Parts: sequence; structure tokens; C-alpha cells
Amino acid sequence: AKPVVAIVGRPNVGKSTIFNRIIGDRLAIVEDKPGITRDRIYGQSEWNDQGFHMIDTGGIEISDDEILKSIRAQAELAIEEADVIIFMVDAKAGLTPADSEVANILFRSNKPIVLAVNKVDNLKRIEDTYEFYSLGFGEPIGISGAHGLGFGDLLDAVVEKL
Ligand code: GDP
Ligand code: MG
Repeated sequence: AKPVVAIVGRPNVGKSTIFNRIIGDRLAIVEDKPGITRDRIYGQSEWNDQGFHMIDTGGIEISDDEILKSIRAQAELAIEEADVIIFMVDAKAGLTPADSEVANILFRSNKPIVLAVNKVDNLKRIEDTYEFYSLGFGEPIGISGAHGLGFGDLLDAVVEKL
């Protein structure tokens, strides 16, 4: 079976944008549960001849007090299923408490993590990624879903850990 790559992060960092760019139109399953909205979305892709499945976690559109609980549940699900996890954060928003919440969960897992900092729309602003070193997952990879920047470096890092 092909390995599984999951994208995990708090809402609004750009997970779905990146997921859609990586899988293109190769969407496999959309799970839609009334009340919970989108649950997980699966697709597949390949990079350097390595095929993989991809999970977009957390189409979270629920009340604020439920958000942290939901982030936790989504991250734990992804940890179980994934061979590699892309931990996504947002350069424009900077480091937030919800990012640290996700980091704590991922830290306890033994899964390989690639830290992606989205919304680095101008790679000359790569210094916007530096504060995320403090999350403890090594070098943050700056990407932009809006402009399609940094995907080569991101996928190189992912495939290297598969
Ligand atoms: P998700 O909740 O993590 O799945 O995030 P989405 O993919 O839904 O994106 C949240 C918002 O961020 C949307 O308004 C996107 O258009 C925006 N966004 C996504 N990627 C980028 C990016 O690279 N740069 C900027 N400036 N905005 C982005
Ligand atoms: Mg989403």
C-alpha cells in the first residue's frame, strides 16, 4: 500500500489550499457528516516517483469553544493513520497558542514531522519562518499556497521521511 501523508494544523493556516495544489484533481473520498461538516478528505499524488495518499484534516466549522477539542481529535486521527505528518502554520499570523497545542500532540507521537510555514508569499521574507524553530520540529519550510512557492522543498522533505 502507498504511504500516507497527513496535513495537520489549526484552522485557517492554508491546509486545504496546499492539499488541493498537491493532489490536483485526484480527489479520492470526501466524507461529509451533517453537523460536523467536512471530516477528512483523501487524495493521492506522487513526487520523484514516490506515490502517496494524502489526508487533509480538519474542515472545522464549529463553535469557538469546540475548536481546540476538534484540533486535538483531528491531529490524533492523523497521527494514527499517517506515515509522515506535515505540520502547517501561518507566517502572516505568527505563532499562536493553537499551534503550540497541535505541537504538543505531535511531539508525543513517534511519527516523522515536516514543519511547513504557509503564507510566505514572498520568499525574500523567509525570516518570517524563524520564530517557528521554537516549536522544536527542526527547520521550518517556507511555502505559499497562494503563489505556489516552496512545494519542491516541502515534497522533497516529505518523501525523504517516507
Ligand atoms: P485551512 O483551514 O487550514 O484548510 O485553510 P484554507 O486552505 O481554507 O485557507 C485559509 C485562508 O488562507 C483562505 O482565505 C486562503 O485563501 C488563505 N491562504 C491559503 N494559502 C495562502 C497563502 O499562501 N498566502 C496567503 N496570503 N493566503 C493564503
Ligand atoms: Mg481546510
